[in-house]
Amino acid sequence: MSLEALNHRLEAARPSATYAIIDRVAVLRAEGRSIISLCAGEPDFDTPEHIRAAAIQAINSGHTRYTQVAGLRALREAIARKFQRENGLDVGWQDTLVGSGGKQVIFNALAATLNEGDEVVVPAPYWVSYPEMVQLCGGEPRIVVCGAGSGFKLTPQALSGAIGPKTRWLILNSPANPTGAVYSRAELEALAKVLLAHPQVLILADDIYEHLIFDGRDFLTLAQVEPQLAPRTLTMNGVSKAYAMTGWRIGFATGPRWLLDAMQKLQGQQTSGACSISQHAAIAALDGPRAFIAHSREVFQRRRDFMVALLNQAPGIRCELPAGAFYAFADCTGLIGKCSPGGRTLVDDEAVALALLDEADVAVVQGSAFGLPGYLRIAYALDDLSLRAACEAIGRFCHSVRQLP
Ligand code: PLP
Repeated sequence: MSLEALNHRLEAARPSATYAIIDRVAVLRAEGRSIISLCAGEPDFDTPEHIRAAAIQAINSGHTRYTQVAGLRALREAIARKFQRENGLDVGWQDTLVGSGGKQVIFNALAATLNEGDEVVVPAPYWVSYPEMVQLCGGEPRIVVCGAGSGFKLTPQALSGAIGPKTRWLILNSPANPTGAVYSRAELEALAKVLLAHPQVLILADDIYEHLIFDGRDFLTLAQVEPQLAPRTLTMNGVSKAYAMTGWRIGFATGPRWLLDAMQKLQGQQTSGACSISQHAAIAALDGPRAFIAHSREVFQRRRDFMVALLNQAPGIRCELPAGAFYAFADCTGLIGKCSPGGRTLVDDEAVALALLDEADVAVVQGSAFGLPGYLRIAYALDDLSLRAACEAIGRFCHSVRQLP
């Protein structure tokens, strides 16, 4: 065996396409190019002051040691209050678990439950990490393409067709990355009806973008809409997107105790629990003032409105108004098969993204990275001025795209 032989599942995993673009942006910037990146998966705001202050106080008070593996009791109590208050879920602190980011919570749920060959239904377009995590944990992603016709959402018919004897999980993400799609009560009820007929299927509700939801829509999560599903639903959330705390690495979940116990067992041999200081900061976030959430929602909605309007003026691009998160998922098929201003053939969405980066100095991620080719994910977690400049650069690029000679 070679010294450098890797775990075969890791070898089969694809590196994150979003990180690949971010790395390329860093290289171009180091060469002196002024690139506007619309690839970010995080709010551009600073963590609110009262949350930072709570972390500093935690350090100065000596809260610098290992915590309980499942999280500080005070944080788990704050999480239980959050699930009761915001999601109508009847849970106690023992029904919660804290991890080092939502990403770890999802990974550990899959790692704790998947055996070789188990299937996980992943609606596409999907967050890039889902299929890779499933594969790393020994499972098989069962990708279900959900196109523009259904608003990029899973329909009951498609779900029903995807569930088979090997199905272990369904992953549902609302508001969604990369489309911003939000499931309504009726849509969740229709999916719940299918799931009730398949009692062997666990459900992961990834609610990380819960608070970034626009036009007065209500956020709803599956276990709230259909309480009969609560005993087999892991409702996952975190402080990253809602409180601009991506770097603090705190995610959490509620779900059946047997599953939380298994995840805790895994975490005990892995991280011994999340960062103590970040946990204190997360208590301040969850129990603190709500003004920041309302403010960031308002800012993102305003940016969404002007950005989508500008994008729709660019020939070859079509973009629906997303209902949540901070991503627009723009159809770029009108550019494919044509010639870029710099003379490249735009063979697919990846070629469009690369040409935009090299010729217009704007970084976006191709839809194929999220399992749906023909689109571009354009994040608007950026200040207004840069956002307008980026949209104008995209507009100029599109106006100069020509038919192939
Ligand atoms: N789920 C989705 C859909 C995401 O987009 C992200 C982050 O980009 C996460 C989960 C994980 O967030 P974190 O690990 O920062 O809590």
